[in-house]
Amino acid sequence: MTRADPRRRIPRTDALLVVPEIADARARLGDIIVRDAITTAQDAARRSELSPEHVEQSVIDALAAHRSFTARPVLNATGVVVHTNLGRASLSPTAVDAVVAASSYVDVELDLDTGTRSRRGAATRAALVRTCPAAGDALMVNNGAAALVLITTALAAGRAVVISRGEMIEIGAGFRLTDLIASTGARLHEVGTTNRTHLRDYADALEADDVGAILKVHPSNYRVEGFTSAVDLPELAKLGRAHGVPVVADIGSGLLQPDSLLPDEPDATTTLAAGADLVVASGDKLLGGPQAGLLLGDATLVGRIAKHPLARAVRADKLALAAMEATLNGPPPPVQEYLHADPVVLRMRAETIGTALDYPIVEHDGRVGGGGAPGVPLHGWAVRLPEALARPLRLGDPPILTRVHDGACLLDLRCVPPSDDERVIDAVRQALAANNGLP
Ligand SMILES: *Cc1c(COP(=O)(O)O)cnc(C)c1O
Repeated sequence: MTRADPRRRIPRTDALLVVPEIADARARLGDIIVRDAITTAQDAARRSELSPEHVEQSVIDALAAHRSFTARPVLNATGVVVHTNLGRASLSPTAVDAVVAASSYVDVELDLDTGTRSRRGAATRAALVRTCPAAGDALMVNNGAAALVLITTALAAGRAVVISRGEMIEIGAGFRLTDLIASTGARLHEVGTTNRTHLRDYADALEADDVGAILKVHPSNYRVEGFTSAVDLPELAKLGRAHGVPVVADIGSGLLQPDSLLPDEPDATTTLAAGADLVVASGDKLLGGPQAGLLLGDATLVGRIAKHPLARAVRADKLALAAMEATLNGPPPPVQEYLHADPVVLRMRAETIGTALDYPIVEHDGRVGGGGAPGVPLHGWAVRLPEALARPLRLGDPPILTRVHDGACLLDLRCVPPSDDERVIDAVRQALAANNGLP
């Protein structure tokens, strides 16, 4: 390297690290990302692809655009309320505040008054029991699947779990309830047929086998129609009590009280009143909270399950506990607002956006999603855009997910906060420009 070699002028790493913008970025992004950006710029300068004088600015620009996490907020214009690929429920502002508050040191397992250890998540448990008084006690774990594993292990390891063949469901992504239960060391005792199961099928199983639990599963995402028969909960509960075997009902969607819009969707209160000893549900479907599995019901059973060593392996984290408590105590979460959105208001919003963009609106039914109430249309409206816009909208800022259907890209505002309508208009204009204004 000669004295005149421009590579001698490439700024050294130490010198770059003290440039205020780069030092700030290091505090925000951490060491690895910052050193990577510095090395990349220095290497480019060594290859003469960047002048040494531009290295500093190049590093600053690269870091300004960088984030230390990749999750991107998107607008859900699909009309599907509990959208699994978009993270199911959108948290309420109250729940978001709770997550932020719980994110540093927090009294999750400490009584500040006495300074001694307290029961983890006691406030969330209290909120669950207050919202669903039919439950003697409640426990929150990581998700619905974890709740099932925990219950099955605690009640029926080495014994049988009785389940109707009409309820042996696959939940999604190849995930089968039956495989899950078999993985716990409990034996599956199948009864009945796909379309019909009778009380005597259960009774025979209880006579013949060493049964730890009877499991009744809500077949969330499918329906058997025609010549069908299933055993009602009150009958099953009576049979279970006679044999001293608990009846566990997996209701899936997490409604704690009935919802008149979804008459076929089970809820925890009605299910417990009908005689189930325990109810299992998800926290991030229709309940509208964080990812969680809820166990509600008989206090003795919940207490027994909570003491099982596996409970520690599936325990809820402090952020989810805080978000659940706030969801239960706060105003109706977004999931409930979107589910019950007024079609008249949806039409007005669609019309405003359609008029601004010069595209027509069409009637469009939204869906509950997340395996909930598959047959129930949610009446509403959508702006009908050209199909070719779906991709540029997904890649836009903010990214917008629409429903591609019937040769069109349907923009349904049900699950878009009204305060984002202006951003939607801007994003569609950008997508039209990206698509060369066609068609
Ligand atoms: C969704 C669902 C589950 C699984 O719950 P996760 O919270 O997704 O783990 C289990 N059972 C039923 C009936 C469901 O609908």
